[in-house]
Amino acid sequence: EGSISLQDVTMEFTSRDRNSLLAVDTTSLTIPSGQFVSVLGPSGCGKSTLLRMIAGLMAPTSGSVSIGGEPVRGPSRKVGIAFQTPSLLEWYTVAENIALPARMGRHPADKRSVERRVEELLATVKLASLGGKYPSELSGGMRQRVAIARSLITDPAVILMDEPFGALDAITREHMHDELLSIWRESGATVLFITHDIAEAVYLSDRIVVMSPRPGRIVADIVNELPRPRN
Ligand code: ADP
Ligand code: ADP
Repeated sequence: EGSISLQDVTMEFTSRDRNSLLAVDTTSLTIPSGQFVSVLGPSGCGKSTLLRMIAGLMAPTSGSVSIGGEPVRGPSRKVGIAFQTPSLLEWYTVAENIALPARMGRHPADKRSVERRVEELLATVKLASLGGKYPSELSGGMRQRVAIARSLITDPAVILMDEPFGALDAITREHMHDELLSIWRESGATVLFITHDIAEAVYLSDRIVVMSPRPGRIVADIVNELPRPRN
């Protein structure tokens, strides 16, 4: 259900002076359902662009993107996404922010069950009892954890994370690594995880994909054979 397939995907950005840039060039990638894949590569190599196309936030210039065998046509609750710099709605509480993806769209989930899930996720990201606060009352790391909880609220089959732990202190980061691994194991979700941290990629993932810029391409695709922690 959560398999990801990119076939000859290209993303070309054209600026006002008509210069064009191949952020992603003819890239194919197949990720089986349930795999945990990290994406490494220098700034500007196209990692975020790749992730946004999978999320349905931008359409490729050419090629096709599908999830679970179905073409991606826009954002969907099957896909959870957390960015490095979280955008939270400042006039909504933390709990309301987390609930949002499950409560919008044509078929909003039941209010009570969403509230229960919000409580669980608040505990997961170590923000239990802070659901009534407003984002402006939180630190950068706490805001990031709100965004992570929000990305998980719909129990997505695909979890996309763009350097989600960048702003966290070392101890919270370790905690989040283990929480993410246990969510991944329990849910069977497919995870695509962008990071600059090779140690983090090795600790978390089944497979590591490396991209290179100008044009953005996958230059290595490695199976991670180091044993990972079990919990
Ligand atoms: P990464 O996530 O690996 O740092 P990005 O996918 O953000 O790389 O960017 C890849 C390239 O595409 C960069 O050169 C970036 O400047 C460019 N780019 C990204 N988004 C846009 C956009 N919306 N418009 C124009 N250029 C963009
Ligand atoms: P269902 O599986 O219940 O049909 P979808 O995930 O297809 O729900 O979402 C229904 C509609 O709501 C889609 O058209 C989608 O564009 C919109 N939608 C759902 N969640 C979001 C979200 N987090 N952001 C933006 N649009 C969303």
